[in-house]
Amino acid sequence: MIPDIDSVDIAHLASGDTLAIQVYKFRGATPGKKAYLQANLHGAELSGNAVIYQLIQFLSDLDASQLRGEIWLVPTCNPIATNQRSHHYASGRYNPYTGTDWNRIFWDYEKDLENQNQSSIAEFAKTQLHLNSKQIQKNFFQQLRSRFEELKQAENRASGLPFEDHYRYQLQSLCLDANYVLDLHSSTNQSFDYLYCFQGREASAKYFLLNTAILLDRYDGDAFDEAFMKPWLSLEKQLEKSGKVVKFDLEAWTLELGSGMQINPDSVYRGVRGVKNYLVSKGMLDIQRFPLIQTASKTVQFFPKSKTQKYYAKQGGVIQSRVMLGTWIQAEQLLYQLLVFNREGNLPQLLNCHAEESGLVYDLSSNASVNQGEYILEVLTQPNEA
Ligand SMILES: [Zn+2]
Repeated sequence: MIPDIDSVDIAHLASGDTLAIQVYKFRGATPGKKAYLQANLHGAELSGNAVIYQLIQFLSDLDASQLRGEIWLVPTCNPIATNQRSHHYASGRYNPYTGTDWNRIFWDYEKDLENQNQSSIAEFAKTQLHLNSKQIQKNFFQQLRSRFEELKQAENRASGLPFEDHYRYQLQSLCLDANYVLDLHSSTNQSFDYLYCFQGREASAKYFLLNTAILLDRYDGDAFDEAFMKPWLSLEKQLEKSGKVVKFDLEAWTLELGSGMQINPDSVYRGVRGVKNYLVSKGMLDIQRFPLIQTASKTVQFFPKSKTQKYYAKQGGVIQSRVMLGTWIQAEQLLYQLLVFNREGNLPQLLNCHAEESGLVYDLSSNASVNQGEYILEVLTQPNEA
C-alpha cells in the first residue's frame, strides 16, 4: 500500500516560516472503520514517533486487501512542543506562550453544550430511544460535527482565534469521524509502558498486550482521548438510564511508552506489537500470526486514576536511594532519602520518606534536585484485575 500524504498547516510564524504536520493515510481495498494515531503531542515524548515510523513501513509492505477501512498516522503532531529546548533539555509539556498543558486544550462537545445552555445529551438521548444504535450514532455525529464546523469557522472572522483553539480544531478535525483514536505518549519524566482506559472499554485493553492500565474513573474532557470519548460515553450512559443499552464501536486510548527525551527500543517494540494486535482484533487488519496467541489469556492490572498518589518534596534537597521504577512498595517502606542543606549554620540532614500506602511505583522525576513542593514520584494504588 502506498499512503496518501497530506500536509496540514499549523502555524504561520512571525519570521515568515510555516509549521505544518503531515498525515499518512493508508486506505484499504474495502471500506470500513477508521483508526487515527498521533505521536509527540508533548514535546519530550518521542517513542511514539518510532512506533509510527515502523507502522508506516509495515503498512507500506501490506497489500490493500489486508486492510479494511483507513489508518491515518501523524508523527511529531505538535511541532512547537517538539522543537522547544531549555539548553539540552526538551520540556515541551506546556505551551510556552500560555503555560497550558498541550494535552488539556481540546474541545469537548458535552462541556460545550453545557456552556452554551444548549439542550443536553440527556435530552438528546430521550429523542432517540426508538432508534437502533447505528441511527443514533449517525444522528449524534451529525449534531457534533455541525457544532464543530461552526466553531472552526470562527477562525475566518476578523477577530481570529487563540492559537490553542486553532491547533485543537486542526488535530480534532482529523479524527472526529474515527472509530479508534490512539494517542502515543511517554512520561515526560521516567516511566514504564502502560495505557489509559475508559470505563466500559476495559475488555479491549488486553489487545495492547501491556500489563498495566490506569482506569479513567475521573476526567474532565480536556485531554485528546477524553475529548473524543466523553460525549459518546455520556450518550451511552443517558441511553442506559432510559433502559436502552448501547455500546458504540468507538474507543480512544492513550499509550504511555517509556520515558521522555529518549527512544527505548523495548517500548517501541511493545507499542508496535500492541497497535498491530489491537487493529487486527478490531477487524481492520488481516495479518499472519495476529492476533497473537497470548491475547486470549492476557491479564491487565487496572488502577483507578483517582487513587494515584504523587509524592512532593517536603523540603528542598537532593534525592538519593530512591526506589526503582516498577517496584511494588508496602506502606511504611522507604521510598527515597533527601539530602537537606541549610543556611543556618547547622550540619546537613538526611531525611527518610516512607510510603503512605502500598502500590506500584510507575513514574519518577528525571531531576534528582528538588525545591520544596516539587514532584518526586508517583504510585498506583488499589489495583483490580480484569
Ligand atoms: Zn504526554
